[in-house]
Amino acid sequence: MEMSYKPEQDNVGVIRKIRRCVNGFGNKSTCGICNKTFLKFSKYRGGWDAVSSYLKDLDWTGSDFDNFWCPYCRSHDRERHLKLYFDALDFWKKFEHANVLHFAPEKHIAHCIEACTPQRYVKGDLYPSRDGVEMMDVTDIKEPDKSFDVILCNHVLEHVPDDAKALKEIFRVLKPGGVAILQTPYSPKLPQTRENDPAITTDSQRLEFYGQEDHTRLYGIDLMDRIAAAGFELKLHQHNMLLKGVDSQRAGVNPDEPLFVARKPTI
Ligand SMILES: [Zn+2]
Repeated sequence: MEMSYKPEQDNVGVIRKIRRCVNGFGNKSTCGICNKTFLKFSKYRGGWDAVSSYLKDLDWTGSDFDNFWCPYCRSHDRERHLKLYFDALDFWKKFEHANVLHFAPEKHIAHCIEACTPQRYVKGDLYPSRDGVEMMDVTDIKEPDKSFDVILCNHVLEHVPDDAKALKEIFRVLKPGGVAILQTPYSPKLPQTRENDPAITTDSQRLEFYGQEDHTRLYGIDLMDRIAAAGFELKLHQHNMLLKGVDSQRAGVNPDEPLFVARKPTI
């Protein structure tokens, strides 16, 4: 079932008005959040060209840097991709009458979840910047065991110094049979996660080797083992399988980023 969602028009500043004028016409791209059709999405920073050769050589998988912001609703690629995956899996029904925990909540996805009338919807962030979002540390969740049916943690773990503790906490507060969405950038070519590297200490080095100044590591393929080590059964849904009818360029999403669904076993 496709989630029908009409975002409110953003109030925009001068720079975004100019971007909208430049990118907002034409018909080569369609935003799956606001359904507007236009020339192209805006790049994130300098786009893929600005990504380091180190990360490019490792087929670093995460955001779609060339097709990032929607010029109209300001959705980013990760929100659009999540909505496409959730539509295809009919995942939205999991939010109905459910207890939901959403870290670093994306605005548009949050509205979609609210439309599903969850029983309880907790939005948390280490540095909350919006009303309705409470201060919450993913490595120290102030909630009882087995509190939530669904947890969303979309591009958060790469920022967390003790990600094993975060995964353990997410597992703890999830009900048996509950699921966590654990998107995070990684390299399918890197056997072992690169972190705690004494040679990487500055913002520019973290940008070059970890992908962003505030990333604490570059996940390798052992990311899957780390998630499993917390007790989860992990299922990856590949874009090219689940969303093979979607033109990723038009939709402004990265087809190399799978959906990470981590389930807490019932026994
Ligand atoms: Zn949009």
